[in-house]
Amino acid sequence: MAIRNTSAIPKGTELETDICVVGGGPAGISIALSLSKSTNLNIVLLESGGLDASDADQALNDGANVGLDYYDLTMTRHRVLGGSSHKWAGWCRPMDELDFDGRPGIPDGGWPISYDEMRPYFKEAARLCQLESEQWEPAPGMDLPPLYLRPFIGGDVEIALWQGSPPTKFGIVYRDRLEADEQITAYVGATAVEVLSDEDGQQATGVRVASLRGNEFVVKARAVVLAAGAIETARLLLASTGANPAGLANENDVVGRYFMEHPHLVTGRIELYPQGTHNRPMLASIDKGFSGVRARLAMQRPAGAMKVAYTISRERQEKEHLLNFSTHLRTVSPVNREESDAYQAFKLAVGNLRSPKRMIKQIRDRALPEDSGNLVKRLVKGTPEITQVIYHEALRKPTELALYTQSEQSPNPDSRLTLDPDRTDALGMPRIKLDWRLSRIDKQSIMGAQEIIGAQLDRSGLGRLIPEPAFTEDSDDWGPGLRGGHHHIGTARMSTDPKRGVVDPAGEAHTVRDLYVGDTAVFPVGGYANPFLTTVAWSLRLADTIASRYQR
Ligand SMILES: Cc1cc2nc3c(=O)[nH]c(=O)nc-3n(C[C@H](O)[C@H](O)[C@H](O)COP(=O)(O)OP(=O)(O)OC[C@H]3O[C@@H](n4cnc5c(N)ncnc54)[C@H](O)[C@@H]3O)c2cc1C
Repeated sequence: MAIRNTSAIPKGTELETDICVVGGGPAGISIALSLSKSTNLNIVLLESGGLDASDADQALNDGANVGLDYYDLTMTRHRVLGGSSHKWAGWCRPMDELDFDGRPGIPDGGWPISYDEMRPYFKEAARLCQLESEQWEPAPGMDLPPLYLRPFIGGDVEIALWQGSPPTKFGIVYRDRLEADEQITAYVGATAVEVLSDEDGQQATGVRVASLRGNEFVVKARAVVLAAGAIETARLLLASTGANPAGLANENDVVGRYFMEHPHLVTGRIELYPQGTHNRPMLASIDKGFSGVRARLAMQRPAGAMKVAYTISRERQEKEHLLNFSTHLRTVSPVNREESDAYQAFKLAVGNLRSPKRMIKQIRDRALPEDSGNLVKRLVKGTPEITQVIYHEALRKPTELALYTQSEQSPNPDSRLTLDPDRTDALGMPRIKLDWRLSRIDKQSIMGAQEIIGAQLDRSGLGRLIPEPAFTEDSDDWGPGLRGGHHHIGTARMSTDPKRGVVDPAGEAHTVRDLYVGDTAVFPVGGYANPFLTTVAWSLRLADTIASRYQR
């Protein structure tokens, strides 16, 4: 029907609808649009942020990191219509079949639904993310960087492909459709502060909503769908204490647990064998002059909107009980071995220059991976360092390359978020304490997988693997540079067992009827692939489930 601001709603109003979707990010928007297309149901979409970002809205995300060093919680997700799709980099890849199937030796592994059940939704998700291709595995004749061809791959070393979304900003690209839709009413500036239920907390009945302008109202619904992002979805459940002081759907103390990320960091270096070694000519493309510099800086990016990385075969993962793993080669900054902000900005700019057609499209669609003003600022600020990088890169031939890893984290109930009873936000909601933890198995698995890739690169004549110091020892030390990918996964996980999951394989809470979760919170495992595409696919599957159950 329209996108409305909550300021127009008198305090104390009670709205009625069929389905109330909480969160207007990619998941929430996909659910609402899909339901509207396939049913005659009325849908209220509640978005905490506005049509444009504001500091006051963003401040509602504030919280404390009490575990591993992590991003500032205010900045790792975005309160605005479209959610974090306003800031995402656009890299898409579905999770692998083996992520769904589970592997021996990985506790709590696998999804209770199969890849085949998700397959049609991945296709539809790719369309919503405006992907030009759904090529996820290499095909003969593909124009790939030489380092990702034989003899550098083979045996148990395989490669995986990512496709680049423009990147689609859901709040911009789908805004007209939301505005024009007869069945959807979207409210911006509308923060769900409590999921309402019957007295016993066994059936969801609606949502209590508050706005920073001070008005509060209630949306009564036949079903409530949470799609506020994995951190806020769990926060909302934990803060909904009307029927259970431990939070709604939290009888088994699983809500907020199993928080997962994808560890991102340099885990090793390849010390290149000297010129003259038989395969060294393969490196000519990155050795020579300024075109070599450009190729080195964008080594992982073939032409077009695609990215490539090494992975390990399913058979070897199963045999050695490894987590799913990806790593790619990067040039090592001659100035600053750790990747500085300026260096990263420079590489991003060079990467984009490799696909000028894509860049023009991004500018036209207002879809640059991060706001261009900020990128330009980072480039200008880093000019002295960048000049040095270009100078050194142009004069020298590389002697080493870094292995930059993006790996799976195993499910761990102690990696979790809880509420901080002593700190509330401007709407009175308790703030989050995030205790991100990794397990020994996560690091051991990276060490094992990296060794397999190192051995292949050695055999191929490229060079010798030198693991980073932290990756030579069996300890909890991850060394410097450990980051996540802004990928928040697993806090209301799906399982057939209510003791190990918050929702069932359909996405409905085990202990609360008519309450569903439609975002990354449900992922029981996260593979290594960036989560966006799988999130949208899951939300579309959930929309079909809801359509079949609530259609009048
Ligand atoms: C810098 C950055 C780069 C990224 N790059 C990639 C990438 O390249 N590839 C990839 O796959 N992923 C990437 N991601 C992650 C990706 O953006 C998220 O996984 C995705 O946006 C999740 O979608 P969502 O709808 O579940 O959650 P969100 O995008 O977080 O949207 C949730 C929405 O709910 C709203 N909300 C929150 N709480 C409430 C409440 N109580 N009431 C009402 N509304 C609420 C929020 O304001 C927000 O609009 C990136 C993320 C960031 C930050």
